[in-house]
Amino acid sequence: MSKVVKIKNLSIGGGNRIAIQSMTNTDTLDTDATAAQLKALQIAGCDIARLAVSSEDEVKACKPLICKFDMPLVADIQFDYKLAVMACEIGFDKIRFNPGNIGDENKVKILVDACKAHGVPIRIGVNTGSLEREYIGLPPAEALKKSALKHVALLEKFGFYDIVISVKSSDVKTMIDAYRSLAEEVDYPLHLGVTESGADIRGIVRSAVGIGSLLCDGIGDTVRVSLSGDPINEVEAARLILQESGIDKNYCQIVSCPTCSRCKYDLKALVDELKAATKDIKTPVKLAVMGCVVNGPGEARDADFGVVGGTGGKVAIFAGGKAVKTVDHSEVVPEILRMIEQKSKI
Ligand code: SF4
Repeated sequence: MSKVVKIKNLSIGGGNRIAIQSMTNTDTLDTDATAAQLKALQIAGCDIARLAVSSEDEVKACKPLICKFDMPLVADIQFDYKLAVMACEIGFDKIRFNPGNIGDENKVKILVDACKAHGVPIRIGVNTGSLEREYIGLPPAEALKKSALKHVALLEKFGFYDIVISVKSSDVKTMIDAYRSLAEEVDYPLHLGVTESGADIRGIVRSAVGIGSLLCDGIGDTVRVSLSGDPINEVEAARLILQESGIDKNYCQIVSCPTCSRCKYDLKALVDELKAATKDIKTPVKLAVMGCVVNGPGEARDADFGVVGGTGGKVAIFAGGKAVKTVDHSEVVPEILRMIEQKSKI
């Protein structure tokens, strides 16, 4: 199990809840726009938000944002260790910085001292796109791991252990291999992500395969689904990945058949209605929505509740593995909601 690292009021690693991370894509100098996006991210369920910080003016622009949000804020800094020190001083909760980029161990020590003084952890974030020259030519997963471990060693040399690591790649197999290999060597919390995952369904699927595979292995402490576009979508996708990997069970899981000619009702419309009606449920419930009696009763018996298409415009409702009543389509949603409510009171 990974060790615990505390970021503001959030503990990650060590079996704590896996945190969802995202990143603003507003102009960091535009404090109002960034504040609005951070607020939207927090409402959507983001646990940790990262901001790209590339100049002293940008660090200063972030100052009014600090303490405005419950979720920890992370300064993403590429090369300038002085900006990283400034970010600690103004109150950022974590920085993402690779100490090997500094090139001078005395300066690494200055950064480490600032992080220690302000209780700020460091995420080492290695990507295939920005690997150091010395690792070019190695198998990519091995190169990612070696690079990350080099940065880790630099921090450990100065007695710094509040470390989180990521080894991202836009190639799913590479990132899976890199994280698996890294997890065997370190007990620092790992931040999972497929970098430059892409947009829309392709990006979500790519992230789901990469992040989901690792979560199913028991690897990973925070996740980010990197999608082109509005970062709110990243939070929604991350939440679904956590649910479908079996990490977050507190929701209404709807399974439904793909339908075929045997289905005699608008199953997709019913699933959409049920999805909307159950989206705020925070207890584990499994609901099967099936087109007909071929696979319907079996699947419905396996779920807490089921809906199975019948004849004459009616559907059968299942509860606890048994058919309990037959209703019109229009009665399904209120009936299922009533049953779920009853179950949550038990
Ligand atoms: Fe077709 Fe019935 Fe199977 Fe749905 S459950 S796919 S309607 S056979």
